[in-house]
Amino acid sequence: MSAFDVKRAGHHRYSVYRKADGARVSGEYSQFSLADAARLRIERESTRRAKSRARDCMTCGTTFMSEGAHNRMCDPCRTRAGRLDAQIMAPAAWPEW
Ligand SMILES: [Zn+2]
Repeated sequence: MSAFDVKRAGHHRYSVYRKADGARVSGEYSQFSLADAARLRIERESTRRAKSRARDCMTCGTTFMSEGAHNRMCDPCRTRAGRLDAQIMAPAAWPEW
């Protein structure tokens, strides 16, 4: 079930609203389909944030906001690791936390 709604905000204006408190969480779109696409993006982002929590980077030990079990390196280390060795990014190679 969606936590967000697309509602008309005026003539040819559609926006995404959060159901919980009715707050508008997007800009205005001229078409429903554009607003609905924005709603999907916002929902994905919201789900991602809900799963994230502080973890220590496995490489440098810095505490950072991880997006989940697949994400154990801070951004700078991930960027470096991605350049040096793409294999370390493979989630299947990592045991479950
Ligand atoms: Zn790091």
